[in-house]
Amino acid sequence: MIFSEQEISNLKALTDNASSIVFIPHQNPDGDAIGSILGWWNVFRNRGLHVSIVVPDEVPSNLRWMQGIEDVTVYGHNPAQANEILQKADLFFLLDFNTISRCGEISKIINKTDTPRILIDHHPKPDEGIADVLFSDVTMSSTCELSYYIFEAAGWGKNINREAAGCLYAGIITDTGSLSYNSSNPRTYHAIADLVARGIDKNQIHNDLFQSNSFHRMKLLGHVLCNKLELIEDGRAAFISVSKDEMDKFNYKPGDTEGFVNIPLSIKGVVISAFFSEREKDKFVKLSFRSQADIPVNLYAKEFFSGGGHPNAAGGEWHGTLSDALERLRATLPVFVKKLNK
Ligand code: 5GP
Ligand code: MN
Repeated sequence: MIFSEQEISNLKALTDNASSIVFIPHQNPDGDAIGSILGWWNVFRNRGLHVSIVVPDEVPSNLRWMQGIEDVTVYGHNPAQANEILQKADLFFLLDFNTISRCGEISKIINKTDTPRILIDHHPKPDEGIADVLFSDVTMSSTCELSYYIFEAAGWGKNINREAAGCLYAGIITDTGSLSYNSSNPRTYHAIADLVARGIDKNQIHNDLFQSNSFHRMKLLGHVLCNKLELIEDGRAAFISVSKDEMDKFNYKPGDTEGFVNIPLSIKGVVISAFFSEREKDKFVKLSFRSQADIPVNLYAKEFFSGGGHPNAAGGEWHGTLSDALERLRATLPVFVKKLNK
């Protein structure tokens, strides 16, 4: 068994005594974050538990097919309702993040309560004291794969119905780039085989996830590839930046730039890629980093952009202008690369 009996009994003790459980993912939620919260929501509903979901900000449209999505309260859209749900909860599940600030304003609310917390995550080094019970495993492709094995270990596998299976499958697929990376462990495929066996409509899920681009997203992609892609470090690194004005021009919706950061890595010789998006004009820039092989961009993100993540997929933040953020990249990336080569 991957988990100790103690870990599973701690999980069961907390959940069996809870009368109002709230699932919380990270900001800018991706397929693994939404897939895992809705996977848990479905499994626990099937067990007859009272469950709710509060997310920091909007769920991207290509994830809105998942069963239970209508039960999601978006803190940014309805803070009063979100607050009420959080205050009434007697157990929180934190899914797919390792640093409390990753759930934005929600972190301030839950930090003021002494409501117990369970963390389910696959990022390295969770914050000290972030939760009472931790399931933190970096060998998992995704929080969804980890969740699947927890359900199995806890004897809740029978509660993974077709809908829950679809959510978990979607998280595994999106966090591995459709099984391109973080997916070399046969264990991932055992989970997938079992989820597919539960009757999911695999083709429909792939259509919903990847064949549902808006016209604007495609135009924005064309624009950034044509006009905003730059090579640095003698062609070993590439970055794309997009300003708030450009995002407005292309009618940006949450999720519209998902995956853009991966594209420069497909250029021969590029081993580090960065994507900068200005979310608040002259004030705030969100960053994404990707890398090949043993280049730990999470350490770079942590050192220079208050971020973190996985060794090959990380993110960070910059409070300031887009041009200053780019200047910092140009100034610090050579230092980072030089250190790696030593
Ligand atoms: P993405 O580039 O897809 O937004 O994020 C890639 C990875 O980096 C994810 O695992 C995500 O959790 C992590 N990440 C993204 N932004 C941040 C951030 O601001 N802080 C930290 N600590 N991790 C981040
Ligand atoms: Mn994940």
